Amino acid sequence: MDIHEYQAKEILSRFGVPVPRGGLAYSPEQAGYRARELGGSAWVVKAQIHSGGRGAAGGVKLCRTDEEVRDFAATLFGRQLVTKQTDANGKGVYRIWVEGASDIAQELYLGFVLDRKSERIMIVASAHGGMEIEDLAVSDPASLRRMVVDPAVGLAEYQARELAFALGLRGGQIAQMVTILRACYRAYRDLDATMVEINPLVITGKGDLVALDAKMSFDTNALFRRPEIAELRDRSQEDPRESAAGDHGLSYVGLDGDIGCIINGAGLAMASMDMIKLAGGEPANFLDIGGGASPERVVRAFRTVLADRNVLVILVNIFAGINRCDWVAEGVVQAYRELGLTLPVVVRLAGTNVEEGRRIVDTSGLPLISADTLADAAAKAVAARNRIAA
Ligand code: GDP
Ligand code: MN
Repeated sequence: MDIHEYQAKEILSRFGVPVPRGGLAYSPEQAGYRARELGGSAWVVKAQIHSGGRGAAGGVKLCRTDEEVRDFAATLFGRQLVTKQTDANGKGVYRIWVEGASDIAQELYLGFVLDRKSERIMIVASAHGGMEIEDLAVSDPASLRRMVVDPAVGLAEYQARELAFALGLRGGQIAQMVTILRACYRAYRDLDATMVEINPLVITGKGDLVALDAKMSFDTNALFRRPEIAELRDRSQEDPRESAAGDHGLSYVGLDGDIGCIINGAGLAMASMDMIKLAGGEPANFLDIGGGASPERVVRAFRTVLADRNVLVILVNIFAGINRCDWVAEGVVQAYRELGLTLPVVVRLAGTNVEEGRRIVDTSGLPLISADTLADAAAKAVAARNRIAA
């Protein structure tokens, strides 16, 4: 789960990371008021969306008067901001962060991620920040410093100091960097984060380190024990198809194609999507209905897939171990009738109670297309899709 920049700054600041003073606004008038309240003579106005790359997309602006703050905020509110990291629809701007402008001498990059190879938290840092890490890895890979943290010891002070030196920091900046690194590490570990990124971490004109941007993501499987994090969720930033599916315990990821997929097991779902591509089609989604799927659950899966207007054909592929083919077949028939379907549905069943499942499909009197193997199912789904699209 992602959170907003201002929320990440508030959390990191609690752990000891220095951040600029700022205030949140839900309207242009409030944004102007925030600027007056903060005082000073320059403010940065920042669209709060779950995406980076806002600066380049026109979502961040340095303003010199409170009228300018208000007017720029007015152009942002309600807008769908499209960045390099969003899809073509972008993300809606409903909250704006106004903070006192910082005077920047240098921009650094700092990230904490889970390194799957070492199974540990890894720190990635560079003295040349500001741009996205993906671009940095291409344009300036030599500047990247990596450090793995031993979970039994935590981030030791000497390690943090070593990293600060490697980034070319001097004098009092070393101690500030040690504080920032240890704070981020503790926030990551104590709150079940999966990512902490400060980009840019700046050196101000006075030589102090300040986090100008902050990003945090959290492990959704741990949210049950982090209610204070769970409440930071902002559904306006999520793909509505995915949030609705999640509410029903279905694992769903929306994609750009037109063949809807209802499959059990993440591995089989991935394989089925590959087979659809191999047969010349494009999957509309990833959907894992899980084990022990009742007819009701299958109907819910149909509703979820059909909420995507691009879907022309549905492919149901079940390899039943814990599941029962007859239940899934009943669910398919029920969904077809209840939802008044007219689109082609290809059904491939294998495993527990497969004979009964096939019998239900074949005697339903509905135009369901039976398939024997995964390859057969993918080919039939693509052929049906091509007939419609032609
Ligand atoms: P992102 O583009 O979504 O990553 O948003 P950032 O918060 O990183 O802001 C983008 C860029 O705006 C930064 O890299 C800075 O160059 C600039 N910026 C942000 N805050 C300030 C500030 O207080 N002063 C100045 N001069 N520039 C800023
Ligand atoms: Mn940034």
